[in-house]
Amino acid sequence: MAKIMEVENLEVVYGVIKALQGISFYIEEGEIVTIIGANGAGKSSTLRAVSGMVRPSSGTIRFKNKDITNSPSHLIARQGLSHVPEGRGMLTKLTVEENLILATYNRKDHAKVKEDMGDVYKQFPRLSERKKQAAGNLSGGEQQMLAIGRALMTGADTLLLDEPSMGLAPLFVKEIFAVIKRINQAGKTVLLVEQNAMTALHTANRAYILENGAVLKSGKAGDLIDDPEVKNAYLGGH
Ligand code: ATP
Repeated sequence: MAKIMEVENLEVVYGVIKALQGISFYIEEGEIVTIIGANGAGKSSTLRAVSGMVRPSSGTIRFKNKDITNSPSHLIARQGLSHVPEGRGMLTKLTVEENLILATYNRKDHAKVKEDMGDVYKQFPRLSERKKQAAGNLSGGEQQMLAIGRALMTGADTLLLDEPSMGLAPLFVKEIFAVIKRINQAGKTVLLVEQNAMTALHTANRAYILENGAVLKSGKAGDLIDDPEVKNAYLGGH
C-alpha cells in the first residue's frame, strides 16, 4: 500500500511549551492509525499541525506526495483531508441537515454530494431521523456522529478524528468505533487520536504511543495490545 501521509521530526511549540519534540509517523492509504497517550501527550497538537491549524516549528508533513508543512488549512482541506476536532464544532442553531450541507460548500460535484448525503444518512440513521432538528438538541453521541458526517460531506478521503469517544456513554462509544470501522471499510483513511487506548487499539491497524511529545512505541495495534509495558501503562494492566 502507498503511504498517504508521512510526517518527519514534527515539532510544535506554544511559547515556551514544547508540545511535540520531533515525532515521525506514516499512514498508508486505507489504514486506521491511532495515536494514543495520556492527557497532554501532544495528540491534539499532532492533528492541529497536520491540518494546518498550528504551524510546526520544524519537521515536514507530506500528504499525497505533496509537502503541506506550511500550507494554510483551507488548502490542506482541499487535498481531501478533514479534521474533526475535539468539541466537535457544529453550528448548534442550525439543523442537522443544514450542518451537513454547509460542509459541502466547496464542492462542485453535485451528483456525488447527493450520493454522499444518502450514504451519510444510511450510515447514521439517527441523523436521518433528526435531520430537521437543531444540532444543539442532539445527544453527545449524535453530535459526534454529525461531526463525522460533516467530515464525510466535505468529500475528504482522509479523516483526522480527535477523541471521538470523549464524554460519551459506553454504548455510544461502541457505536462510534463501529462507525469508524465502517467508514474505513467504505474506503476512508483514518488518523484517530484517543485516550481510550484499549478500544482504539482494537479498532486500528497500527498505533503510535505518545508520551510527553515523543513517540514511545509504535507497531501493529494487535502487537501493542499484548505488549506488557503498554498493558501496564495504558490498559490498566489487563
Ligand atoms: P488532551 O487529551 O488533553 O487534548 P493531548 O495529548 O491532545 O491532550 P495537546 O493538547 O496536544 O495534548 O497538548 C500538548 C501540550 O501542549 C500540553 O502540555 C498542553 O498543555 C500544551 N498546549 C496545548 N495547546 C496549547 C496552547 N494553545 N497554548 C499553550 N499550550 C498548549
